[in-house]
Amino acid sequence: MSQTESELQKNLRKLMWQSENCLACVWFRPNDPINADILERGKCIHSKLKPYELLVSGRDWCNLFAEIKQETIDMLQEMAMKAEESKK
Ligand code: SF4
Repeated sequence: MSQTESELQKNLRKLMWQSENCLACVWFRPNDPINADILERGKCIHSKLKPYELLVSGRDWCNLFAEIKQETIDMLQEMAMKAEESKK
């Protein structure tokens, strides 16, 4: 038992919040990009997985994960908001 308190807390956080998940992945296209959270479902558009038409949730993950940039999130949300406005 040589783990320090901070190491234990870090490991516990990993159990509670898996950070490299679909929600944080550049290949995830949530059904609702404006309100997406870890329970949000959506498509995976990675070229290797797209043919399978997977339905994934924000808390899923795989070894093809690539972190999404904030600018990409902003762009997806902006597009979703424009799409919503055009429906009115
Ligand atoms: S399934 Fe893998 S590649 Fe697809 S969105 Fe999730 S982590 Fe990314």
